[in-house]
Amino acid sequence: MTKTLVIGGYSDGDKADLSRTFDPLFLAGPEDLAGLDDAARADVTAVAYKGHKPFGAAQMDLLPNLGLIANYGVGYDAIDVDAADARQIKVTNTPDVLNDDVADIAVGMMLCQGREMMQASAWARSGNWAKNGEYRLNRKVTGSTVGILGLGRIGREIANRLAAFKMDIHYYARSEKDTPGWTYHSDPVKLAAAVDFLVVALVGGKDTEKFVSREVIAAMGPRGVLINISRGTTVDEAALLEALEAKKIAGAGLDVFLNEPDIDPRFYALENVVIQPHQGSGTVETRAAMAQLQRDNIAAFHAGEALLTAVN
Ligand code: NAP
Repeated sequence: MTKTLVIGGYSDGDKADLSRTFDPLFLAGPEDLAGLDDAARADVTAVAYKGHKPFGAAQMDLLPNLGLIANYGVGYDAIDVDAADARQIKVTNTPDVLNDDVADIAVGMMLCQGREMMQASAWARSGNWAKNGEYRLNRKVTGSTVGILGLGRIGREIANRLAAFKMDIHYYARSEKDTPGWTYHSDPVKLAAAVDFLVVALVGGKDTEKFVSREVIAAMGPRGVLINISRGTTVDEAALLEALEAKKIAGAGLDVFLNEPDIDPRFYALENVVIQPHQGSGTVETRAAMAQLQRDNIAAFHAGEALLTAVN
């Protein structure tokens, strides 16, 4: 009973690393669990999980000897932790090792938004630069006002980068944090009204669903730009699309969406949106660090040692 069940889309390198350390059984997704026979399912004590499909009570109940779900990623909103608790199953994630890359993507989307780098590149490539002259003037990013919605591990990395851009930094969290003089708001609507750029770095899941509500989006105003690197669920996407289409806000930079990767096609028609395909942590270096931390948690579990990054 020491089998590690590996669920999700892993690279060949990750699969080789997992096979060197464990005796893994690979599945493409949680929907394939039911296809395993009783004996194979009873063998499983640990799951290495990657992906955003729900892993809840129904999946856990198919694995009677499961003791650990090790998630590949810091966001574990796909895993029902209450259901895991009820079954005395531990959950781990991969915090911190991805902070820098996700913060880089957030700042990159702000620069692309303000300086219209995607559109300007298309202008040059299409021959317009040579034919019609210089690209239109755009918007200064350095020195503007930014609100970080969720000053956690990633939110703080974003704020630290933006401090170097001489930005006036405001933030929301459930309690005031120790900061180098950043302005705290206990009300997300007031935060949105106070800033040019609103960057969402909240956890996903039920508790933060539509936290960026219609009211928050309205409070951003016509110069407001929304940047989201958290989860699609944290934003009222219908309200966001309406505001973008009606130009009630200036634009958005989005790495995360509802129904990824089949996102609402209305986003593709909007020139004022920078779209990233949920690639915040998607560098070779960071994905290797995430995979290593996931394996370290599984190894600790099998050895009966303390888990490195336990969630529950
Ligand atoms: P973290 O350190 O736990 O910070 C999360 C923030 O969310 C904190 O500021 C926390 O506020 C706030 N929060 C938690 N529950 C809340 C609630 N019920 N209501 C309001 N605020 C709440 O997490 P992190 O490591 O920075 O990661 C944040 C999220 O980024 C992850 O959960 C994941 O969804 C997302 N992410 C995305 C990518 C990507 O590729 N785009 C990559 C990695 C992570 P308090 O300070 O008040 O507790």
